[in-house]
Amino acid sequence: MGKHVCIIGSGIIGLTAAYYLKRAGHQVTVLDQQSAADGCSTGNAGMIVPSHIIPLAAPGMVAQFVRWMFDSKSPFYVRPRMNMELLQWGYQFYRHATRQHVSQSIPALKAISLYSKAAYQELQQAPPFDFGYHERGLLMLYQTAATEHEETETAAVANQHGVAAEILSATAVQAMEPNHQVKVRGGVYFPGDAHLNPAMLWQGLYEWLTKQQVNIRQDAAVRSFETDNKGVKAIITDQDDIRPDEVVIAAGAWTGAIVRGLGVPLPMQAGKGYSFMMSMQPNLNVPSLLLESRVAVTPMGESLRMGGTMEIAGVNHTINMKRVQGIVEAVPRYYPDIRPALPDVKTVWHGLRPCSPDGLPYVGRLNRCHNVTVAAGHGMMGLSLAPGTGKLVTSIIQEETPAIDLQPFNPNRYA
Ligand SMILES: Cc1cc2nc3c(=O)[nH]c(=O)nc-3n(C[C@H](O)[C@H](O)[C@H](O)COP(=O)(O)OP(=O)(O)OC[C@H]3O[C@@H](n4cnc5c(N)ncnc54)[C@H](O)[C@@H]3O)c2cc1C
Repeated sequence: MGKHVCIIGSGIIGLTAAYYLKRAGHQVTVLDQQSAADGCSTGNAGMIVPSHIIPLAAPGMVAQFVRWMFDSKSPFYVRPRMNMELLQWGYQFYRHATRQHVSQSIPALKAISLYSKAAYQELQQAPPFDFGYHERGLLMLYQTAATEHEETETAAVANQHGVAAEILSATAVQAMEPNHQVKVRGGVYFPGDAHLNPAMLWQGLYEWLTKQQVNIRQDAAVRSFETDNKGVKAIITDQDDIRPDEVVIAAGAWTGAIVRGLGVPLPMQAGKGYSFMMSMQPNLNVPSLLLESRVAVTPMGESLRMGGTMEIAGVNHTINMKRVQGIVEAVPRYYPDIRPALPDVKTVWHGLRPCSPDGLPYVGRLNRCHNVTVAAGHGMMGLSLAPGTGKLVTSIIQEETPAIDLQPFNPNRYA
């Protein structure tokens, strides 16, 4: 007998959870405060990155962030403000930026990433929609000796952990992109990575779920909960009260505030990023990260998506065109014949990455509320980790042993 599961958030984590729960025979309702069709899950860079086994909270990152703070076009910015949640988040980030945290996190990130990539491979076969999935790897491109040194070290760590990484000369990089000039010192190629069109994936899931009678409501902001000693009895929305058997909180950057309403501390900050498109024929073959500028470049059909920046500035939707200009200027430094124009502010997409301070997502049940599962905080990897997370949430709700160890992702770890 299926349960009634109510998912808060219709981003990619909420919809993939809904997909696996529905396929497992549960009655599923999805609530959102708005349409997620142009939220964080659709305009992102579309990269599926099992290569990213090192969390953002890593040695050297704090000093790097401080350097970037003084450059208006830099890829990273924290808006200084006296806000207790930001201060706590910053302290936890600083505390976790250690070698020990990195080595503990690598096996956990590798396990969830590979599990999720395998889920994408299955998903590509299962429902009747295309989401532009290609397995062509990822190029990490560098222009300076210092970045080459850092990236070859990262490649060595990846190879030690069984994630294939190939160090390429400038000539070898150019050979992978015969249609465009590439100006680099060299690159690291991760053959196991993939890419897809995130808006096609979101839309395909949305339509499939709607056809399966999953009720996806995009006018229902969750305001509070009615609880008893077992957990959540009712979810109070703008519209009505819902009384499910199980609750999944997949509310992206807003998750910290919602979980705090249940009495559990869960540090989370929004990391704003931008992207825009440019038509491109012939297109690049392989997505790339332009390392010194932290810009992502992804071929999507006959367009190229360019994106980047991480602004920790609260949940706010202003577009900082200086940083968009930073992306525009970075691309021709690496691909001299690709010269995007500064887009009109109205065509710049932005999304709020849900960032935990230790760089690990939150996936698991809350100790204080036994019928509440959290699935959020995937930061820069939410698209990559989405179907794996959806499957793990389904195992949790069915009281089955999850396919991977969930202890590193425990949502009670700051309680
Ligand atoms: C520029 C950029 C590039 C990126 N590139 C990549 C990439 O290449 N690969 C990758 O893996 N990841 C990438 N990401 C990260 C990825 O996009 C995110 O991690 C992912 O989209 C997060 O999904 P989510 O479902 O957790 O959150 P969201 O998509 O933000 O969904 C959360 C939903 O919850 C809803 N919600 C919030 N509060 C409430 C409430 N009270 N009541 C009801 N609903 C509520 C919100 O309205 C929202 O729709 C990128 C992000 C950015 C910004």
